[in-house]
Amino acid sequence: MADFLPYGCQMIDEDDIAAVCDVLRGDFLTSGPAVVGFEAALSNAFGDPEVVASANGTTALHLSMLALGIGPGDVCIVPSVTFLATANVVRYVGADVIFSDVCPDTGIMRAQDLEGALARVGGRPVRAVMPVHLGGHVAPMEQLADIVAAWPQDKAPPIVEDACHAIGSRYTTSEGTFTVGDCRHSAMANFSFHPVKTIACGEGGATSTRDPELAKTLAELRSHGMVRDAGRFQNRDLAFDGETANPWFYEMQAIGYNFRITDMQAALGISQLKKLPAFVARRQALVARYHELLQDCGPLIRTNAGAPDSLPAQHLYAARIDFGAAGRSRREVMEVMREAGIGTQVHYIPVHTQPYFRALYGDQSLPGANTFYARTLSLPLFPAMEPDDVDRVVDALKKAVGVNS
Ligand SMILES: *Cc1c(COP(=O)(O)O)cnc(C)c1O
Repeated sequence: MADFLPYGCQMIDEDDIAAVCDVLRGDFLTSGPAVVGFEAALSNAFGDPEVVASANGTTALHLSMLALGIGPGDVCIVPSVTFLATANVVRYVGADVIFSDVCPDTGIMRAQDLEGALARVGGRPVRAVMPVHLGGHVAPMEQLADIVAAWPQDKAPPIVEDACHAIGSRYTTSEGTFTVGDCRHSAMANFSFHPVKTIACGEGGATSTRDPELAKTLAELRSHGMVRDAGRFQNRDLAFDGETANPWFYEMQAIGYNFRITDMQAALGISQLKKLPAFVARRQALVARYHELLQDCGPLIRTNAGAPDSLPAQHLYAARIDFGAAGRSRREVMEVMREAGIGTQVHYIPVHTQPYFRALYGDQSLPGANTFYARTLSLPLFPAMEPDDVDRVVDALKKAVGVNS
């Protein structure tokens, strides 16, 4: 392994490069067979839902908002510990964000956090509940779905998963084991294939759903809202020559965007997805090594086991560090680690504290989010790492934090 260990890094082999080059030699650079193939491969990996690939994880989430018809006056529930995009897409469609608190130990929105957020909606229509599978640890989907299902049918908000960290993660419920993306407990799940995530497209995203109508709407909104299905044309005089639809004809019935993914990116995605099981196995082995080496650190450094029913394919390895008790600030620890050739990162600054959202919603007290944020530090985790690298990271971390061992 190279001298400097970043906190995350893609793993691209010659076969990935060859897959992209094949596209470049072919007829379609975008919206061609690689995109269709990537969607099919993702569907297969998730358990056969419909899948619509798009430009990135943010467009996938944004399309979810658009397809559900969410807009001004509506509210969506977003955990405060997430990447900005989860909250931003709610604002893109003019709706308001209600930030949920999270578990102080895992950063995940639990049932009681969702209940707390719902108590603050003030009668406005809740149009989406957006759990985030932070670091690949799956939110308690069955419990969240039960809360929503207890609502009157016409008011029950759909669950829209931000699964950008969680491709390959699974979870158990009273009914069995489920793969994230399967959408057995949600309306839609959204993924990102940014290079730091578990598989890389460069930029890339996808939305999965079990609702064929939603899938069709997502696909249309991905490309300007263009409808090519003759059965749905409204301008019939323009659309048809007698009984036959004009071959050039399309119709725009709702405003969409150009959120398409290219065939180069999709081909890379297909190639990377074949390696998902190997990537996940490697990540799990590295995580097991971290857990083992960090378990004897006492209260200064603790591990993050995630939610109880989650079988994570971890995207991040976040340790929980009591910087106050250690007498070292997080900045100091990060600097010492950097000097030792080890990159670390913080996931995430609670979004409710961002000036944009404070200006909109004022100061809010979300103690779980603040506690999680104060302690969390993401350590290197990516498939090209060796178990020895974990030992090196843990040694450096113990020294930096001042744990004797
Ligand atoms: C990466 C990420 C996104 C956005 O994905 P992009 O592909 O970067 O647009 C959204 N939510 C979470 C939790 C993410 O980590």
